[in-house]
Amino acid sequence: MPYSDTVTDPGVLKAIADMGLEGRRLYLPHMPYGGTYLLAAAIRSIGFDAWPTTDSDKHTLDLGGRVTSGDECYPQKIVMGDFLRMIEDEGRDNVAFLMPTANGPCRFGQYLHLIKAKFQELGYDDVPVITISSSDGYTSIGNYSQDLVRTAWRAVLAQDILMKFLLKTRPYEREKGSTDAAYLKSLEETGEALSLQHVSQRERLDAVVKALARAGERFRALPADYDRSRPLIGVVGEIFCRH
Ligand code: SF4
Repeated sequence: MPYSDTVTDPGVLKAIADMGLEGRRLYLPHMPYGGTYLLAAAIRSIGFDAWPTTDSDKHTLDLGGRVTSGDECYPQKIVMGDFLRMIEDEGRDNVAFLMPTANGPCRFGQYLHLIKAKFQELGYDDVPVITISSSDGYTSIGNYSQDLVRTAWRAVLAQDILMKFLLKTRPYEREKGSTDAAYLKSLEETGEALSLQHVSQRERLDAVVKALARAGERFRALPADYDRSRPLIGVVGEIFCRH
């Protein structure tokens, strides 16, 4: 059953219809995977069928490389390639994309324009690419913007917490892959809590807090050898690169 069949709120149904999303799944680019996974869960809480794109692969680079010149930021090529790959894999009638944007010197604000221009060139102008922008307080999502902004902020904080659990545990794990598995399980449970529909913000927050508490226990229980002589390496910087 399409996700929108489970939505009864007339305002959400109208927003889905107005954006051309009926019968389509809304895909978000990875930035990073965990953050996107939880942001998509937050968007599901207001009734949209939102999920991250599937993992990038070599075909992502092939497709992205066909429509970019190499002057763009490398993530632009990846996002473009992933969107084109999702159209190939899922069918142009079943997909839509959410590409956030922002103002300022960072070239992130150009991604949306290039994606729309290339979709038009390739004859995919019927595939919806919707956006939300910080410049209007995300009001493009209508009456639900305040509710969604609050849930999305909690998704960001939850991702930060889970990412810290992941990074502080993984270098010391005894069983290779065990920390990644704990992280994915924790993302899944936190995502379920964030995506709860027809509940108050308080009830959703309580569910998120419980999921994060279980995640903490899950990471603490992982067999690990905490070796204090191992140096801690902090990485600071911009992600800009070209390829
Ligand atoms: S790579 Fe850097 S400059 Fe380019 S869009 Fe991303 S943050 Fe902005």
